[in-house]
Amino acid sequence: MSEIPYKIYLEENEMPTQWYNVRADMKKKPAPILHPGTLQPVTVDDLKPIFCEELAKQELDDVTPYIEIPEEIRNFYRMYRPSPLVRAYCLEEKLQTPAHIYYKFEGNNTSGSHKLNSAIAQAYYAKKQGLKGVTTETGAGQWGTALSMACSYFGLDCQVYMVKCSYEQKPFRREVMRTYGAQVTPSPSMNTNVGRKINAEFPGTTGSLGCAISEAVEAATTQEGYRYVLGSVLSQVLLHQSVIGLETSTALKKYGIKADTIIGCAGGGSNLGGLISPFVGEMLRGEANYEIIAVEPASCPSLTRGKYAYDFCDTGKVCPLAKMYTLGSAFIPSANHAGGLRYHGMSSIVSELYDQGLIKARSVEQTSVFEAATTFARVEGILPAPESSHAIKVAIDEALKCKETGEAKNIVFGLTGTGYFDMYAYQAYNDGTMTDYIPTDEELAKYMSSLPTV
Ligand SMILES: *Cc1c(COP(=O)(O)O)cnc(C)c1O
Repeated sequence: MSEIPYKIYLEENEMPTQWYNVRADMKKKPAPILHPGTLQPVTVDDLKPIFCEELAKQELDDVTPYIEIPEEIRNFYRMYRPSPLVRAYCLEEKLQTPAHIYYKFEGNNTSGSHKLNSAIAQAYYAKKQGLKGVTTETGAGQWGTALSMACSYFGLDCQVYMVKCSYEQKPFRREVMRTYGAQVTPSPSMNTNVGRKINAEFPGTTGSLGCAISEAVEAATTQEGYRYVLGSVLSQVLLHQSVIGLETSTALKKYGIKADTIIGCAGGGSNLGGLISPFVGEMLRGEANYEIIAVEPASCPSLTRGKYAYDFCDTGKVCPLAKMYTLGSAFIPSANHAGGLRYHGMSSIVSELYDQGLIKARSVEQTSVFEAATTFARVEGILPAPESSHAIKVAIDEALKCKETGEAKNIVFGLTGTGYFDMYAYQAYNDGTMTDYIPTDEELAKYMSSLPTV
């Protein structure tokens, strides 16, 4: 057996003490986010009624490369970090590939995903500002779960608007959140103006992320001492998630491994952005080169088939506008789409890196994703989240290509979480009833025709 262990762990003193802000090294920065009323670039003052002040500053900071991780957050990270970088010896054996496959596993905490890395940071800054609580949306439920854990740790109130179809399909996630003290409301609800409006316009709708965001923002801005927090898409979230990439980079260096291909699933872009940030930084500074692949569902293909344009981040059009690859803020993936990654847009950092050709994107169909998930679960033991399995699918494809070419590439992918709350989706796959749906060009054009003109 090779000298590289199955699991590469870091010592506590090798853990990052600063987050890395990749925007600082980008010569062409992501386009500024715009105020939804004035369409002018937002200032920290514009964002202050919605976001915690420190987070608003991080959101707009595209010049500071390293930002100190406060001691309180580092202490919380110590409970479940460093996360292991695993050499997938068993998967390599199964595939009979000369490639070396590594995955960074973020599912080893109760919330079951990487989202806790940013949840704890956002809760910390809210507490430090003296707020009573925060509001948010959750789709599949991982973000709401992570945030409820983070809020209970700092004694903050946590109000979660959960997309209605998930609220109904994932009662266990809802109960985990409630166990950590969060108040969970199915969205669209009748609690907010925007929820009532969406319910009136689309009776019987099972909701969407964009619509839950609008409700959570309204709830934050109409209650004293509350702010809104978001689990993906925003640049501050990518900043916090850089802890994934920094640990990965240190672990690889420890064993003298140079990654060739780095793969991550992309919903709003936060885990991918966090994983690749330090590596993209090296590319931007001309120090190294990597092939980076963002993987998205064929049923929600924002990078591969969307437009790079300013768009609203939410259905209710109350949030700032961001320039991003988008399918249009009214886009909702078809009902048969099982696993996460259903946001209509993409992080403006990831979008800009993609537009500059620094990263590639690929879309995959869900039955092939579950096939990859099953292969992986059977040999590596971990039952992966459907979202994470998009990255597994492409990692396997790349490893099989190496089998043809005989190349011993180092493939690194992000395994963002576990799939224990996604068993209805696994059931559909196991029963053979899961189908694929790829939207037509006409359908996509319809949603994208209503992009705002900026
Ligand atoms: C939320 C989530 C994702 C997708 O979100 P990104 O912001 O694109 O990272 C991927 N995997 C898991 C397990 C998630 O919970």
